[in-house]
Amino acid sequence: MNLRVGVIGTGAIGADHIRRLTTVVAGVEVVAVTDIDADRAQAVAGTVGARTVPSALDVVAASDVDAVVVTSWGPSHEEYTLAAVAAGKPVFCEKPLATTAAGCERIVRAETAAGRRLVQVGFMRRYDAGHRALRDTLAAGKIGPALLVHAAHRNRSASVGHYSSDMAVTDTAVHEIDALRWILDTDFAAATALGPRRSSTAPEGLADPQLLVLETTTGVLVDIEVYVNCRYGYDIRCEIVGETGTVALADPAPVAVREGGAVTGALHTDWQERFAAAYDDELRDWVAAATAGTATGPTAWDGYAAAVTTDACLAARATGVRTPIAVPTPPALYRAV
Ligand code: NAP
Repeated sequence: MNLRVGVIGTGAIGADHIRRLTTVVAGVEVVAVTDIDADRAQAVAGTVGARTVPSALDVVAASDVDAVVVTSWGPSHEEYTLAAVAAGKPVFCEKPLATTAAGCERIVRAETAAGRRLVQVGFMRRYDAGHRALRDTLAAGKIGPALLVHAAHRNRSASVGHYSSDMAVTDTAVHEIDALRWILDTDFAAATALGPRRSSTAPEGLADPQLLVLETTTGVLVDIEVYVNCRYGYDIRCEIVGETGTVALADPAPVAVREGGAVTGALHTDWQERFAAAYDDELRDWVAAATAGTATGPTAWDGYAAAVTTDACLAARATGVRTPIAVPTPPALYRAV
C-alpha cells in the first residue's frame, strides 16, 4: 500500500514537493493538503486528486494521513512538527525546523520522549552530488585536514514580502551552516557577522549582502557570504582549503562555449533547478523511512544544532561582537545517526 501523505503549505516548495511526491517518487500518494490561502490549496490539490482540509492540525489528525510534510512558512514549523510527533506520525519539515534553537529543542525533547525518530529536516544539500563529493574528498584525506572554507549563497532576488535580514541567516545561510557542519563533521564554536554597505539591488531595510565568519570546534575558519539580490543567477559556491590541496564545487555549466573571443557557460537561475535531483532523493529517502514508521535523513538534532548557530549569528549581528556557540552533546537517539 502507498504511504498516504498530508501536506501543510502549498506555496513554492510545497507545490514542488507535491509534484515530486505524485510524479517522481514511488510508493506514495498525497491525500490531504491545506494552506492559509484556501484557494491556493484547492488549486494545488486539484492537480493531484487530493482533498483540502481547513487547517494544519486537521491534516495531522486525519485518519487516512500516515505521514506529514510541513512546507508552510518557517514560524509555523514548530507547532505542526510537534503535532505530528504527538500523533506518532513521521514528518518531513522544511528548514528551518524552527526559527530559534529553543523551538528546535522542544521538538528534540518531544521526539526523544517518543523514543524513536519521526522527524526529517529538509536539509537537501546532504543529498546533492556536489556536496557529497566535497565530504567524501575531505573524508578520504585527499587534501589533508581542512583549514578554511569559503562559501557563498547567492540568489537572483529575494522573495518579496516577509523576507528579512534575519531570514537571510535563518532561512538561507542555514543551508551552508548545516552542510558545512556535516561536511566538516564538527560543530561551530563562535560566530562573527559582518556586512559591507547595502547593495542598491536590495529592498529597503534588507541587509544584503551579509558575511558570516564561523569558527568550528576543530579550529576551521568558515566564511559564508549571503547575497540574495545578486541579479546574475543562482550561485552556490564552496571551496575547502586543506593542508595539501583544495576542493570546490564545480561550475554548473555542462559545457563551455568558446565563441566571439569569449568563453561562456550557463548558470542556474533558481534553487528548484540547482537542487532538483537532491530534492528528489531526500523525499525518496523520507518516503522509504516513513513507510517503515521512522525517519533516517537529517535529524531534529541537526535542525537544533543549525538553529543554535543561526541564533549566535543573529546575536553577533545585533551586538557587533564575536559570539560563542555551544552545541551540547546529542541525546542517545541521535548519536548513532
Ligand atoms: P511560500 O511560497 O511563501 O509558501 C509558504 C506557504 O505556506 C504559503 O502558501 C503560505 O501562505 C502558507 N502558510 C503560511 N503560514 C501557514 C499556516 N500557518 N498554515 C498553512 N499554510 C501556511 O514559501 P516557500 O518558498 O514555499 O517556503 C516554505 C518553507 O520552505 C520555508 O520555511 C522555506 O524556508 C522552505 N524552503 C526550503 C527550500 C529548500 O531549499 N530546502 C527552498 C524553498 C523554501 P501565505 O503566502 O498566505 O502566507
